[in-house]
Amino acid sequence: MPSEFIHSVCPHDCPSVCALEVERRDANTIGKVRGAAAHPYTDGVICAKVARYADRVHHAGRLSTSRDPIEPLVFNCLLI
Ligand code: SF4
Repeated sequence: MPSEFIHSVCPHDCPSVCALEVERRDANTIGKVRGAAAHPYTDGVICAKVARYADRVHHAGRLSTSRDPIEPLVFNCLLI
């Protein structure tokens, strides 16, 4: 599957509500995240926190399952 950029929006609770372009490398892997070029606020640029999103999402040390069997729904919400 060749990578492609798809349109998205920042999931953070931030008043800027930036429009994003996210590189989808395959069904489970993202690459670069940048501000939407066509959006006048982002104009292709994004904050440092979200620019490195792929590093955090795919970090080897990231938890992938809940350690608390009673709270899996809360954990899944935190992964977003
Ligand atoms: S990309 Fe950064 S500045 Fe834009 S809404 Fe998300 S956290 Fe806020």
